Amino acid sequence: MANEQARDENTKMDPDKARASLDRLYNIYRDIAETADEVMQTRCPYKDAASRCTAKFGCRNQFFTSDPTSLPACAGSDLIDYRDAWDT
Ligand code: SF4
Repeated sequence: MANEQARDENTKMDPDKARASLDRLYNIYRDIAETADEVMQTRCPYKDAASRCTAKFGCRNQFFTSDPTSLPACAGSDLIDYRDAWDT
């Protein structure tokens, strides 16, 4: 009985705290989305964190190394629009 009562008190939700928590989460995700929208204007979505190209199509910015198993390096600039280089 005492355990049940203690459990009920532990699971009670404070609506104001829950709302504040959801608002904080919303703001974090909004900031992430805004940054992603801004970055994708110039950084190609096929470029990975190590600047390798993961595209499955040709692009004149691909720089192939002598290793046929490795992904090509991306020689494109993040300062210009990458979409003109695609062979699509
Ligand atoms: S090589 Fe072309 S497709 Fe690949 S990441 Fe660079 S710009 Fe994008």
